[in-house]
Amino acid sequence: MTILVLAAHPDDEVIGVGGTIAKLSKKEDIYVIIFTFGSTFPYSEDKYRIAEKRIKESFYAAKILGIKDIYFIGADFKMNRIHKDKFLINRIQKVIKDLNPRVLFYHSLTDGHPDHRAVHRFAKRLKGDFERYTFEVTSPFDLISSRPKLYVDITNVFHIKMKAIEYFISQKQITWFFRYYIPFKARIAGKIIGTKYAEVFIKDESRFWS
Ligand SMILES: [Zn+2]
Repeated sequence: MTILVLAAHPDDEVIGVGGTIAKLSKKEDIYVIIFTFGSTFPYSEDKYRIAEKRIKESFYAAKILGIKDIYFIGADFKMNRIHKDKFLINRIQKVIKDLNPRVLFYHSLTDGHPDHRAVHRFAKRLKGDFERYTFEVTSPFDLISSRPKLYVDITNVFHIKMKAIEYFISQKQITWFFRYYIPFKARIAGKIIGTKYAEVFIKDESRFWS
């Protein structure tokens, strides 16, 4: 089975789906598409150097998690319009045709970051015979949503997820988020299903993007 993850920035795939990837990657083929190089943050450094750094970090993290390959799109500008970019949609649609994924993971529409919501709108445009699940990076709304959810027990691989996150050293300004928020959310999700750590996804059954 092939699983495809769509992420706005390098590290979103690890924060959102890292535990599930680590758990499933021994048996399943997992690919990630990252839309930007994440090079607008931090602002003080040279953009291209940051992009280079973050690409490197993503591949290190991918190795630990067992991701088969990452596709970088380089869509750093006008993220809020990417769902109208027919060329980009066709390009990704071709990747989907080649990989033939059974499951697609992408950002939730309730996420706090506009780039994340842009990827959600983009994903809604993609056609294919796959199940769709959304993940949240900056907000915990998925935990309280009444929509159908998928919980994945990541207790045995949680340390791998955290190790992969450690690779994103260029993001050290927001270390508190990595160190505290991620374990905290995983503990709450775990409590709901009676395990130590879990990741939660919302099944995306709505037909229309908004
Ligand atoms: Zn992001």
